[in-house]
Amino acid sequence: MAKPILLSTPHIGNSELEFVKEAFDTNWIAPVGPHVDAFEQEFCQVVSTSHAAAVSSGTAALHLALQLIGVQPGDEVFCSTLTFIATASPITYLGAKPVFIDSDRTSWNMNPDLLRDSLDQRAKIGKLPKALVLVHLYGQSADLDPILEACNHYNIPLIEDAAESLGATYKERSPGTFGKIGIYSFNGNKIITTSGGGMLVSHDPDLVAKARFLATQARDPAPHYQHSEIGYNYRLSNVLAGIGRGQLQVLKDRVEARRHNFEVYQQALGNLPGIEFMPEASFGRATHWLTCLTIDPKAFGCDREQVRLALAEQQIEARPVWKPLHVQPVFAGCECIGGEVAESLFKTGLCLPSGSNLTPEDLERVIEVIIRLEKQRLLDRPHHHPPPHG
Ligand SMILES: *Cc1c(COP(=O)(O)O)cnc(C)c1O
Repeated sequence: MAKPILLSTPHIGNSELEFVKEAFDTNWIAPVGPHVDAFEQEFCQVVSTSHAAAVSSGTAALHLALQLIGVQPGDEVFCSTLTFIATASPITYLGAKPVFIDSDRTSWNMNPDLLRDSLDQRAKIGKLPKALVLVHLYGQSADLDPILEACNHYNIPLIEDAAESLGATYKERSPGTFGKIGIYSFNGNKIITTSGGGMLVSHDPDLVAKARFLATQARDPAPHYQHSEIGYNYRLSNVLAGIGRGQLQVLKDRVEARRHNFEVYQQALGNLPGIEFMPEASFGRATHWLTCLTIDPKAFGCDREQVRLALAEQQIEARPVWKPLHVQPVFAGCECIGGEVAESLFKTGLCLPSGSNLTPEDLERVIEVIIRLEKQRLLDRPHHHPPPHG
């Protein structure tokens, strides 16, 4: 049987093991230590920010960010709808309610005009949200300038979920460093990984200090154990921070490799009828963490699911684009402003295998399945047979 080709797998460089060994040799096997400090400093340099706190996951970083902003039960928080659930679940951890906002087709990220209009309307009725959580999806920045302008106009703190977009740029700067707080993820499928981990960044030293305090059980500065607030156990292990330091050294290579995947796919498949690749907006440089495309079933002759299943038959893992949060059962009853764009991207969108460690042969195998399928036009047949075995 053919070797499986997965969506996005870890890709370790040359120095991670050295850093981990150093942690073992010095017995810093704890959620504190020199690798944690160094990882934070080195991360700040990579994204050009002033302060960072390493935590156990991107989700934990978002939870802390919302708490630092002061989100409370009953508050409303505006949030991108086309994203992974972890963008929004921390809103509900705090008893607040998400209000979702649709994407635009330029970047697949939050539509700045929709945001502006809805804030204008909310201001009129005196019901502005407590914060905005903005995602930078699939390695591409959202259109930050108009979004920041709308937020600043109404004094809405911006939290950026850049979990998928480390290494991308918006006008030469790193998404995640524009708002009040930004977060990143080092989960196993992200562009670099610590197996699991996250980073909270801000230009405000007090916010990051408070994040560290909350992430270590909110312990007051006293010789005994004293607590005046409830905190969390959210710090990153020194062992994992060692992996992160090694991964930061190869981030640039990983970005180039993922961009290369996108180019190869686009050259081979971009001219097929009904196939459109996720556009790269002119305001920045995307990493193409995942290569995503949409399939118009009429023009292509097969729909997204038929393509996905045909790939799966060849042991190739492709995934539908994120199911928008406003149509998730768990968020039934939550308001959504717009939603049609995200729904249509979900209906037709597919993420192809995109790891930085894919070989040219891997890419060729993916491409061949899709080219072969286009010729078959399964949808035009009287019965929709499942795609044949290769
Ligand atoms: C992965 C991801 C997260 C969560 O990060 P974890 O480290 O897995 O907790 C949050 N938001 C988005 C958009 C993600 O893709």
